Amino acid sequence: KPEYKVTLLGAGGVGKSALTLRIISGQFTPSYNPTIEDYYRHDTNVEGVGQCIVEILDTAGTEQFASMRQLYINSGDAFALVYAIDNLDSFLEVKEIYQQLVEMKKPEELLVILVGNKCDLKSKRTVSTQEGIQAATQMKKCPFLETSAKDGTNVEEFFNTLVAAVDKKARGD
Ligand code: GDP
Ligand code: MG
Repeated sequence: KPEYKVTLLGAGGVGKSALTLRIISGQFTPSYNPTIEDYYRHDTNVEGVGQCIVEILDTAGTEQFASMRQLYINSGDAFALVYAIDNLDSFLEVKEIYQQLVEMKKPEELLVILVGNKCDLKSKRTVSTQEGIQAATQMKKCPFLETSAKDGTNVEEFFNTLVAAVDKKARGD
């Protein structure tokens, strides 16, 4: 059974833990300790991949220190860059994180998906879908999805897309 390492990166409060817990448990966990960094072994069946183990690293807080982020980047196979659609700063932050990824990974090794979370908060939106699409285009045309850990929109799609991409790469494209 293949094993893949997927790492969620992004500003505090964007919903990394909520997305992770939605993937693991299928439920929305509204309050989760923001300082907890956790690591899950998720034994699952991914569409187009089959049975596999996905190690999900839900990072917390410490990624603001560049050295800590380096550790995550070195050990990860694929990365979800998560911002929240109601938080412009978090959108700027994923662009910075992407720059660090580019500096540390060879282009052919870099697997990224851009995720605009909290898409249920329509009336509070400050980052448009078009801006998300544009950013993903600049990130070497990486996949882009708007998700909601709260109502479940696109969460499975996001996870499947990322795991399928890692699987494809592991099999030599
Ligand atoms: P993290 O710091 O990136 O791990 O963020 P959390 O997962 O702890 O979420 C931060 C806050 O945003 C919590 O109050 C969550 O309940 C809330 N939250 C997370 N995802 C969503 C979402 O998709 N929609 C809404 N409305 N709130 C969310
Ligand atoms: Mg968290």
